[in-house]
Amino acid sequence: MEQTRMISPMFKQIDPPQRFLMGPGPINAHPRVLRAMSADMLGQFDPEMTEYMNETMALYRQVFMTENQWTFLVDGTARAGIEAALVSLVEPGAKMLIVRAGRFGLLLSEIAERIGAEICTLDLPWGEVASLEQIEAALQEHKPQVLACIHGDTSTTMAQPLDGVGALCKKYDVLSYVDVTATLGGVPVCTDQWGIDVISGGLQKCMGGPPGSAPITISDRAAEHIMARRHVEAGIRSASLTDGQRPRIPSNYFDLAMVMDYWSEKRLNHHTEATTMLYGAREAACIVLEEGLENRFARHKTASTALIAGLRAMGLTIFGDDAHRMANVTGVWIPASVDGDKVRMRMRDDFGIEIGTAFGPLTGKIWRIGTMGYNAVKHKVLLTLGALEAALAAEGFKPPRGAAVDAAMASWP
Ligand SMILES: *Cc1c(COP(=O)(O)O)cnc(C)c1O
Repeated sequence: MEQTRMISPMFKQIDPPQRFLMGPGPINAHPRVLRAMSADMLGQFDPEMTEYMNETMALYRQVFMTENQWTFLVDGTARAGIEAALVSLVEPGAKMLIVRAGRFGLLLSEIAERIGAEICTLDLPWGEVASLEQIEAALQEHKPQVLACIHGDTSTTMAQPLDGVGALCKKYDVLSYVDVTATLGGVPVCTDQWGIDVISGGLQKCMGGPPGSAPITISDRAAEHIMARRHVEAGIRSASLTDGQRPRIPSNYFDLAMVMDYWSEKRLNHHTEATTMLYGAREAACIVLEEGLENRFARHKTASTALIAGLRAMGLTIFGDDAHRMANVTGVWIPASVDGDKVRMRMRDDFGIEIGTAFGPLTGKIWRIGTMGYNAVKHKVLLTLGALEAALAAEGFKPPRGAAVDAAMASWP
């Protein structure tokens, strides 16, 4: 009896199989990021550590293309960034307009419901995006305090155009939030040009890092609104710190007012900054900026264009319209004659390549193939196409042999 309660000493050291993660995320992290994450711990007020925090803020300002002072990391996966943004921006009872065109749009309302917001929505079929006119009409109709939407919704592989959305929100005195988890570091995220107040992302897609850190950037006007909800924790209070007048943020961990105090020169302690994740996030941003944002966007575009050329040469049909397609994850219709899951299993078991399944109304209908970050490279695209061709052939769908790889190679500049 005693023995069954003991943890077996027989579990092996972690040694996962090598796979190409060519799905909608997570993807393979850049080895440099993994190496940075094996560096030694520092105390959280060590000047080396606070310097790394300041450097991380400076790096992510460039990644987000913004001058926003408040640009830092929320500890947790991308969803932590979304939840921190919404719970800090949206007061219970506040009216919130959510653009919903896929799984992650629905997630925004799921979170907003828990906050107790009054939700109004602009709903679109999966695979479509909202026009500026539709957004303006919804702002006029609902008069919300906050607008929230997704940039690239990986569930549909479509990217919502955001040029002009910030200006519209300012015109109607609305705070704006956008989730760029899937696009950050692979597709332009033009925070200042868009004029969006709060934007959050993640590492495990185009940033080429592991899941577990959510970079966020906050405009001064949104920071002011959040700071008006500030409520300093009892144990670290001092006479010089005053609370804001607006309702307290109903989450401690995701209270961005407290997290900003921690990332400011005040260094007012909140949770312990996730040291290892900070190392990883910092290294990921260094790699992105060393490559250069424009080069990186071009590389993602090249990889997805080649992938699409290959898929089409196989006789497959791409999901959604070309005009709004994300440049880093591609949806493709599963041919009616094959079982999509069997093809995915063959790719994983025979080739060590993972591609994605789909959610909601697209379940069983499309695969999603990612070409992101460290994986948006020629050999991985060609290997994925070759493997898919063989897996499809084994399941009875006979694509013209060799055509996919040839077409992708021809498409590569
Ligand atoms: C992948 C993805 C997420 C992931 O959130 P996690 O908490 O990191 O799992 C969030 N939003 C979008 C749009 C995504 O594509």
